Amino acid sequence: MRRAFRSVTHMTVTTLTGRCPACGSTSAFASLYRLHATCPVCSVRFERDDGSYLGSLSVAYGFTILVLAGVTAALVQRYGLFDGFAVVLLVVGVGTVTAVYRPAKAWWLWWLWTMGFVVTDEVNERGMHTVRPNVRGRP
Ligand SMILES: [Zn+2]
Repeated sequence: MRRAFRSVTHMTVTTLTGRCPACGSTSAFASLYRLHATCPVCSVRFERDDGSYLGSLSVAYGFTILVLAGVTAALVQRYGLFDGFAVVLLVVGVGTVTAVYRPAKAWWLWWLWTMGFVVTDEVNERGMHTVRPNVRGRP
């Protein structure tokens, strides 16, 4: 079931603060980059399947590539190629991806919640979402 798109403000606040998109009462993050398994307040499960947050890596890397392209264009236009150019790009790239990964993950969580993938276990057990078959042979 797809949730209604609340507002750009809700998306922006959730992304920048890292709060739970469902209740907004508490941080969704247990540490700098790691999410809680479930929201401590409203109990929605943040990660239902392995690899649910690979998309947030893509968002962070994509944003970093755009920043690097802009920095490269600006530096080459102003200074040309110079000694240490690669080091500057490396520092900018690592710094950018480090800085944007948390907001990218928070945005991805908001997106998953908006699309109806972030729900409580009870809602999931009622069959509103398909439970993935156990392909690993675990009971
Ligand atoms: Zn919550």
